[in-house]
Amino acid sequence: MRNENIFDVIIVGGGPAGLSAALVLGRACRKVLVCDSNQPRNWASKQVHGFIGVDGINPRELVRKTRDQLVRLDTVTIWDNEVVNGHRWQNEFEIMTKDGRSAASRKMLLATGVTDELPPIAGAQACFGKSLFQCPSCDGWEARGKPIAIYGRGAPSYTMARALFGWSRDLVICTDGPSGLMHKQRETLDRHGILVREEPIEQFEEEGGNLRSIQFRNGEKLERSFIFFNLPSKQKSALAEGLGCEFTEELGVKTGRYESTNVPGLYVAGNLIKDVHLAIVAAAEGARAALGINKALAKEDFAVME
Ligand SMILES: Cc1cc2nc3c(=O)[nH]c(=O)nc-3n(C[C@H](O)[C@H](O)[C@H](O)COP(=O)(O)OP(=O)(O)OC[C@H]3O[C@@H](n4cnc5c(N)ncnc54)[C@H](O)[C@@H]3O)c2cc1C
Repeated sequence: MRNENIFDVIIVGGGPAGLSAALVLGRACRKVLVCDSNQPRNWASKQVHGFIGVDGINPRELVRKTRDQLVRLDTVTIWDNEVVNGHRWQNEFEIMTKDGRSAASRKMLLATGVTDELPPIAGAQACFGKSLFQCPSCDGWEARGKPIAIYGRGAPSYTMARALFGWSRDLVICTDGPSGLMHKQRETLDRHGILVREEPIEQFEEEGGNLRSIQFRNGEKLERSFIFFNLPSKQKSALAEGLGCEFTEELGVKTGRYESTNVPGLYVAGNLIKDVHLAIVAAAEGARAALGINKALAKEDFAVME
Protein backbone atom coordinates (compact mmCIF):
# COMPACT_ATOMS: atom_id res chain seq x y z
CA MET A 1 0.00 0.00 0.00
CA ARG A 2 1.29 3.49 -0.89
CA ASN A 3 2.56 5.53 2.07
CA GLU A 4 0.28 8.50 2.80
CA ASN A 5 3.12 10.62 4.15
CA ILE A 6 4.74 11.29 0.78
CA PHE A 7 7.31 14.08 0.48
CA ASP A 8 9.57 15.37 -2.26
CA VAL A 9 12.55 15.00 0.05
CA ILE A 10 13.21 13.33 3.38
CA ILE A 11 16.21 14.77 5.25
CA VAL A 12 17.60 12.63 8.06
CA GLY A 13 19.58 14.81 10.48
CA GLY A 14 18.77 18.31 11.69
CA GLY A 15 22.23 19.77 12.33
CA PRO A 16 23.75 22.59 10.23
CA ALA A 17 23.90 20.35 7.12
CA GLY A 18 20.33 19.04 7.25
CA LEU A 19 18.71 22.34 8.27
CA SER A 20 20.56 24.29 5.60
CA ALA A 21 19.33 21.84 2.96
CA ALA A 22 15.78 22.10 4.35
CA LEU A 23 15.89 25.91 4.05
CA VAL A 24 16.98 25.83 0.40
CA LEU A 25 14.53 23.05 -0.55
CA GLY A 26 11.62 24.51 1.44
CA ARG A 27 12.13 27.85 -0.30
CA ALA A 28 12.17 25.98 -3.62
CA CYS A 29 8.54 24.97 -2.87
CA ARG A 30 9.55 21.34 -2.26
CA LYS A 31 7.64 19.34 0.33
CA VAL A 32 10.31 18.44 2.87
CA LEU A 33 10.40 16.25 5.97
CA VAL A 34 13.30 16.66 8.43
CA CYS A 35 13.77 13.88 11.01
CA ASP A 36 16.18 14.63 13.83
CA SER A 37 17.17 12.71 16.96
CA ASN A 38 18.73 15.84 18.58
CA GLN A 39 22.15 14.36 19.32
CA PRO A 40 24.54 16.67 17.45
CA ARG A 41 28.27 16.09 17.34
CA ASN A 42 28.92 19.27 19.34
CA TRP A 43 26.52 18.29 22.16
CA ALA A 44 29.14 19.27 24.77
CA SER A 45 30.10 22.59 23.22
CA LYS A 46 28.86 25.99 24.41
CA GLN A 47 29.90 28.02 21.36
CA VAL A 48 30.09 27.59 17.60
CA HIS A 49 33.11 29.48 16.30
CA GLY A 50 33.88 30.52 12.73
CA PHE A 51 30.27 30.75 11.52
CA ILE A 52 29.87 34.14 9.83
CA GLY A 53 27.42 36.53 11.43
CA VAL A 54 27.00 34.43 14.59
CA ASP A 55 30.59 33.61 15.71
CA GLY A 56 30.39 32.21 19.26
CA ILE A 57 26.66 31.43 19.17
CA ASN A 58 25.42 28.58 21.40
CA PRO A 59 24.94 25.53 19.13
CA ARG A 60 21.41 24.93 20.42
CA GLU A 61 20.54 28.58 19.75
CA LEU A 62 21.81 28.25 16.17
CA VAL A 63 19.53 25.23 15.63
CA ARG A 64 16.58 26.96 17.34
CA LYS A 65 16.94 30.13 15.22
CA THR A 66 17.13 28.10 12.02
CA ARG A 67 14.13 25.95 12.98
CA ASP A 68 12.12 29.11 13.75
CA GLN A 69 12.84 30.31 10.23
CA LEU A 70 11.96 26.92 8.75
CA VAL A 71 8.56 26.62 10.42
CA ARG A 72 7.54 29.87 8.69
CA LEU A 73 7.70 27.92 5.44
CA ASP A 74 4.60 25.73 5.10
CA THR A 75 6.65 23.37 2.95
CA VAL A 76 8.84 22.02 5.77
CA THR A 77 7.75 19.49 8.40
CA ILE A 78 9.99 18.51 11.32
CA TRP A 79 9.74 15.25 13.26
CA ASP A 80 11.87 15.06 16.39
CA ASN A 81 12.62 11.39 16.12
CA GLU A 82 15.30 8.92 15.16
CA VAL A 83 15.01 7.17 11.82
CA VAL A 84 15.64 3.51 12.58
CA ASN A 85 15.08 2.10 9.12
CA GLY A 86 15.43 3.41 5.57
CA HIS A 87 15.22 1.69 2.22
CA ARG A 88 14.88 2.45 -1.48
CA TRP A 89 12.11 0.78 -3.42
CA GLN A 90 10.88 1.48 -6.98
CA ASN A 91 12.68 4.86 -7.19
CA GLU A 92 11.26 5.98 -3.83
CA PHE A 93 12.65 6.08 -0.35
CA GLU A 94 10.79 4.93 2.71
CA ILE A 95 11.71 5.54 6.34
CA MET A 96 10.49 4.32 9.69
CA THR A 97 11.02 6.28 12.92
CA LYS A 98 11.66 4.96 16.41
CA ASP A 99 8.10 5.87 17.45
CA GLY A 100 6.68 3.84 14.54
CA ARG A 101 5.83 6.60 12.06
CA SER A 102 6.65 6.09 8.39
CA ALA A 103 7.06 8.36 5.38
CA ALA A 104 8.14 8.11 1.75
CA SER A 105 9.92 10.48 -0.63
CA ARG A 106 11.28 10.88 -4.14
CA LYS A 107 14.77 11.88 -2.95
CA MET A 108 16.60 11.48 0.30
CA LEU A 109 19.37 13.40 2.03
CA LEU A 110 21.41 11.93 4.87
CA ALA A 111 22.96 14.56 7.16
CA THR A 112 23.42 12.28 10.14
CA GLY A 113 26.92 13.46 11.15
CA VAL A 114 29.60 11.64 13.11
CA THR A 115 30.37 10.99 16.73
CA ASP A 116 33.70 11.41 18.53
CA GLU A 117 35.65 8.77 20.41
CA LEU A 118 37.00 10.47 23.54
CA PRO A 119 40.34 9.60 25.15
CA PRO A 120 39.67 6.69 27.56
CA ILE A 121 40.91 8.70 30.54
CA ALA A 122 39.08 9.72 33.72
CA GLY A 123 38.02 13.36 33.42
CA ALA A 124 37.74 13.34 29.61
CA GLN A 125 33.94 13.38 29.59
CA ALA A 126 33.82 16.40 31.95
CA CYS A 127 36.44 18.34 29.96
CA PHE A 128 34.95 17.65 26.50
CA GLY A 129 33.73 20.86 24.89
CA LYS A 130 35.22 23.02 27.69
CA SER A 131 38.94 22.30 27.70
CA LEU A 132 39.19 19.12 25.61
CA PHE A 133 38.76 19.60 21.87
CA GLN A 134 39.54 17.89 18.58
CA CYS A 135 39.57 20.82 16.12
CA PRO A 136 42.12 23.67 16.33
CA SER A 137 40.28 25.68 13.67
CA CYS A 138 37.14 25.55 15.85
CA ASP A 139 38.57 26.15 19.33
CA GLY A 140 42.27 27.05 18.88
CA TRP A 141 41.64 30.79 19.31
CA GLU A 142 40.40 30.32 22.89
CA ALA A 143 43.57 28.28 23.67
CA ARG A 144 46.04 30.63 21.96
CA GLY A 145 49.30 31.15 23.86
CA LYS A 146 48.15 28.75 26.62
CA PRO A 147 49.82 25.51 27.84
CA ILE A 148 48.30 22.78 25.67
CA ALA A 149 48.63 18.98 25.80
CA ILE A 150 48.12 16.85 22.72
CA TYR A 151 46.61 13.44 23.47
CA GLY A 152 47.40 10.72 20.93
CA ARG A 153 50.09 8.58 19.38
CA GLY A 154 52.07 8.33 16.16
CA ALA A 155 51.32 10.37 13.04
CA PRO A 156 47.97 11.79 14.29
CA SER A 157 49.64 13.34 17.38
CA TYR A 158 52.46 14.73 15.22
CA THR A 159 49.96 16.28 12.78
CA MET A 160 48.01 17.80 15.66
CA ALA A 161 51.22 19.33 17.11
CA ARG A 162 52.07 20.83 13.72
CA ALA A 163 48.53 22.25 13.40
CA LEU A 164 48.50 23.74 16.92
CA PHE A 165 51.95 25.36 16.61
CA GLY A 166 50.26 28.39 15.03
CA TRP A 167 48.17 28.93 18.17
CA SER A 168 50.64 28.11 20.95
CA ARG A 169 54.33 27.28 21.33
CA ASP A 170 53.74 25.67 24.74
CA LEU A 171 52.88 22.17 23.53
CA VAL A 172 53.47 18.74 25.13
CA ILE A 173 52.45 15.48 23.44
CA CYS A 174 51.12 12.92 25.94
CA THR A 175 51.00 9.47 24.37
CA ASP A 176 49.83 7.41 27.39
CA GLY A 177 52.27 4.61 26.49
CA PRO A 178 54.81 4.10 23.67
CA SER A 179 54.63 7.15 21.38
CA GLY A 180 54.73 5.36 18.01
CA LEU A 181 56.50 8.45 16.61
CA MET A 182 59.20 8.02 13.95
CA HIS A 183 62.78 9.15 14.60
CA LYS A 184 62.45 12.04 12.13
CA GLN A 185 59.23 13.21 13.75
CA ARG A 186 60.89 13.14 17.20
CA GLU A 187 63.76 15.24 15.83
CA THR A 188 61.41 17.86 14.38
CA LEU A 189 59.41 18.01 17.63
CA ASP A 190 62.68 18.43 19.60
CA ARG A 191 63.74 21.27 17.31
CA HIS A 192 60.48 23.08 18.10
CA GLY A 193 60.78 22.47 21.84
CA ILE A 194 57.79 20.10 21.93
CA LEU A 195 58.19 17.46 24.65
CA VAL A 196 56.84 13.94 24.32
CA ARG A 197 55.62 12.29 27.56
CA GLU A 198 55.05 8.54 27.24
CA GLU A 199 54.09 7.80 30.86
CA PRO A 200 50.67 6.17 31.32
CA ILE A 201 48.03 8.73 32.32
CA GLU A 202 45.94 8.36 35.48
CA GLN A 203 43.48 11.19 34.91
CA PHE A 204 42.77 14.64 33.52
CA GLU A 205 42.45 16.74 36.70
CA GLU A 206 39.67 19.30 36.19
CA GLU A 207 37.31 21.67 37.96
CA GLY A 208 33.94 22.13 36.31
CA GLY A 209 35.38 20.79 33.06
CA ASN A 210 38.32 23.24 33.11
CA LEU A 211 41.56 21.27 32.92
CA ARG A 212 44.08 21.88 35.72
CA SER A 213 46.70 19.20 35.03
CA ILE A 214 47.45 15.83 33.54
CA GLN A 215 48.20 13.36 36.30
CA PHE A 216 50.45 10.44 35.37
CA ARG A 217 50.27 7.04 37.06
CA ASN A 218 53.78 7.58 38.48
CA GLY A 219 52.34 10.44 40.56
CA GLU A 220 53.81 13.29 38.46
CA LYS A 221 51.60 16.14 37.27
CA LEU A 222 51.82 18.30 34.18
CA GLU A 223 49.96 21.62 34.42
CA ARG A 224 47.97 22.30 31.26
CA SER A 225 44.92 24.40 30.37
CA PHE A 226 43.73 22.59 27.25
CA ILE A 227 44.00 19.20 25.56
CA PHE A 228 43.52 18.57 21.85
CA PHE A 229 43.12 15.00 20.64
CA ASN A 230 43.23 13.33 17.26
CA LEU A 231 41.19 10.11 17.37
CA PRO A 232 39.03 8.82 14.51
CA SER A 233 35.35 9.80 14.48
CA LYS A 234 32.62 7.24 13.68
CA GLN A 235 29.49 7.45 11.53
CA LYS A 236 26.59 8.37 13.81
CA SER A 237 24.06 6.34 11.86
CA ALA A 238 24.15 3.06 9.92
CA LEU A 239 21.61 4.36 7.36
CA ALA A 240 24.21 5.23 4.69
CA GLU A 241 25.68 1.75 4.89
CA GLY A 242 22.25 0.10 4.94
CA LEU A 243 21.16 2.02 1.83
CA GLY A 244 24.27 0.82 -0.03
CA CYS A 245 26.54 3.90 -0.01
CA GLU A 246 30.20 3.54 -0.93
CA PHE A 247 32.75 4.79 1.60
CA THR A 248 36.21 6.40 1.38
CA GLU A 249 39.32 5.00 3.08
CA GLU A 250 38.63 7.38 6.00
CA LEU A 251 35.13 5.82 6.25
CA GLY A 252 33.37 8.95 5.01
CA VAL A 253 30.53 8.59 2.49
CA LYS A 254 31.84 8.92 -1.10
CA THR A 255 30.27 11.83 -2.96
CA GLY A 256 29.95 12.98 -6.55
CA ARG A 257 28.50 16.16 -8.07
CA TYR A 258 26.17 18.08 -5.73
CA GLU A 259 26.96 15.62 -2.88
CA SER A 260 25.22 12.77 -4.71
CA THR A 261 26.11 9.19 -3.75
CA ASN A 262 26.38 5.99 -5.76
CA VAL A 263 22.74 5.23 -4.78
CA PRO A 264 20.37 6.96 -7.28
CA GLY A 265 18.38 9.76 -5.63
CA LEU A 266 20.37 9.60 -2.39
CA TYR A 267 22.48 12.60 -1.32
CA VAL A 268 24.63 13.30 1.74
CA ALA A 269 25.92 16.47 3.46
CA GLY A 270 27.95 17.43 6.50
CA ASN A 271 30.46 15.64 8.68
CA LEU A 272 29.46 12.15 7.50
CA ILE A 273 31.40 12.94 4.29
CA LYS A 274 34.47 13.32 6.55
CA ASP A 275 36.04 16.16 4.59
CA VAL A 276 36.15 19.57 6.33
CA HIS A 277 34.58 19.31 9.80
CA LEU A 278 33.44 22.92 10.27
CA ALA A 279 29.76 23.67 10.88
CA ILE A 280 29.71 26.33 8.17
CA VAL A 281 31.08 23.83 5.65
CA ALA A 282 28.43 21.30 6.72
CA ALA A 283 25.81 24.00 6.05
CA ALA A 284 27.35 24.75 2.66
CA GLU A 285 27.33 21.07 1.74
CA GLY A 286 23.67 20.93 2.76
CA ALA A 287 22.88 23.87 0.47
CA ARG A 288 24.82 22.30 -2.40
CA ALA A 289 23.03 18.95 -1.99
CA ALA A 290 19.70 20.81 -1.91
CA LEU A 291 20.50 22.46 -5.23
CA GLY A 292 21.40 19.08 -6.75
CA ILE A 293 18.19 17.53 -5.44
CA ASN A 294 16.04 20.41 -6.69
CA LYS A 295 17.63 20.24 -10.14
CA ALA A 296 17.00 16.49 -10.33
CA LEU A 297 13.35 16.93 -9.27
CA ALA A 298 12.84 19.77 -11.75
CA LYS A 299 14.18 17.60 -14.58
CA GLU A 300 11.85 14.75 -13.64
CA ASP A 301 8.80 17.02 -13.34
CA PHE A 302 9.47 18.72 -16.68
CA ALA A 303 9.95 15.41 -18.45
CA VAL A 304 6.68 14.05 -17.05
CA MET A 305 4.73 17.10 -18.24
CA GLU A 306 6.15 17.10 -21.79
C1 LIG B 1 33.35 19.79 21.15
C2 LIG B 1 33.11 20.26 19.75
C3 LIG B 1 33.22 21.60 19.43
C4 LIG B 1 33.03 22.03 18.13
N1 LIG B 1 33.18 23.35 17.85
C5 LIG B 1 32.98 23.79 16.60
C6 LIG B 1 33.14 25.17 16.31
O1 LIG B 1 33.42 25.99 17.18
N2 LIG B 1 32.97 25.55 15.01
C7 LIG B 1 32.66 24.67 14.02
O2 LIG B 1 32.52 25.08 12.86
N3 LIG B 1 32.49 23.36 14.28
C8 LIG B 1 32.65 22.90 15.54
N4 LIG B 1 32.50 21.57 15.81
C9 LIG B 1 32.13 20.67 14.70
C10 LIG B 1 30.60 20.74 14.45
O3 LIG B 1 29.96 20.18 15.57
C11 LIG B 1 30.26 19.99 13.17
O4 LIG B 1 30.96 20.53 12.06
C12 LIG B 1 28.76 20.08 12.85
O5 LIG B 1 27.98 19.71 13.95
C13 LIG B 1 28.45 19.17 11.66
O6 LIG B 1 27.12 19.30 11.30
P1 LIG B 1 26.28 18.07 10.71
O7 LIG B 1 24.96 18.67 10.34
O8 LIG B 1 27.06 17.35 9.69
O9 LIG B 1 26.14 17.03 11.93
P2 LIG B 1 25.53 17.21 13.40
O10 LIG B 1 25.57 18.62 13.85
O11 LIG B 1 26.22 16.19 14.23
O12 LIG B 1 24.00 16.82 13.23
C14 LIG B 1 23.60 15.53 12.88
C15 LIG B 1 22.19 15.35 13.38
O13 LIG B 1 21.67 14.14 12.82
C16 LIG B 1 20.94 13.47 13.82
N5 LIG B 1 20.84 12.05 13.47
C17 LIG B 1 21.83 11.13 13.34
N6 LIG B 1 21.33 9.93 13.00
C18 LIG B 1 19.98 10.10 12.94
C19 LIG B 1 18.89 9.23 12.64
N7 LIG B 1 19.09 7.94 12.36
N8 LIG B 1 17.63 9.72 12.69
C20 LIG B 1 17.40 11.02 12.97
N9 LIG B 1 18.40 11.91 13.24
C21 LIG B 1 19.66 11.44 13.22
C22 LIG B 1 21.74 13.72 15.10
O14 LIG B 1 20.95 13.51 16.26
C23 LIG B 1 22.13 15.19 14.90
O15 LIG B 1 21.16 16.06 15.45
C24 LIG B 1 32.69 21.10 17.10
C25 LIG B 1 32.56 19.74 17.41
C26 LIG B 1 32.77 19.31 18.72
C27 LIG B 1 32.64 17.85 19.03
